[in-house]
Amino acid sequence: MDLVFYIKQVLLFVCLLSVSRYGDKILSLEALHENISLRCIVDNVIHICLGIISWLIVSSYETFSVAHVLQSLLCGLIAGSIDLDHFLMAKSLKFKDAINLSSRPPFHNTTLMAMLAILLISLMHFKGNELCEYIGWYILVATISHHLRDALRRGLWIWPWTTKPLHFISYLILSYLFPLAVGFMLRINKRIIFVKVKTFDVIQV
Ligand SMILES: [Zn+2]
Repeated sequence: MDLVFYIKQVLLFVCLLSVSRYGDKILSLEALHENISLRCIVDNVIHICLGIISWLIVSSYETFSVAHVLQSLLCGLIAGSIDLDHFLMAKSLKFKDAINLSSRPPFHNTTLMAMLAILLISLMHFKGNELCEYIGWYILVATISHHLRDALRRGLWIWPWTTKPLHFISYLILSYLFPLAVGFMLRINKRIIFVKVKTFDVIQV
């Protein structure tokens, strides 16, 4: 770990903090309380921005490249698309119907989404399909980012349980540490593959 790594961590943590705090400030504006559609759009843009930052944290062990930026955008889009289940459950495209559901929609079930993502990661890992394995990682990181933010208001839905609403400090620490831990695991995984390939090359020689 060099100095650049630590500078990146500080910058990404500040980005995470700023987007979360200013996002809440924007959402509390009176103009947004009167306009439900605009409020939902702004809330979703905040989820997308936090998804992007989360994948940048995952990638922070490596030198940033265009590929990392594109991966982060994909993670952000997945984080934003989680709220589509509101419309699916409401069977309506109206924002008013989407936010007035009697229960939480399925993509907000952390147990279900994490299990699906981990299943995809595991299957694709053993099949050696790295591209699909990474899609599982994007889904996992995007889901946790989205669910943690929603948990500030409604708690986490870790089926069959529901937690109390998260304190902002707990939200911030978890939102930073989860992608950092994923990035660390992916780094170890890459090293194991690299060692295996090198060993195979030596055996071939
Ligand atoms: Zn949501």
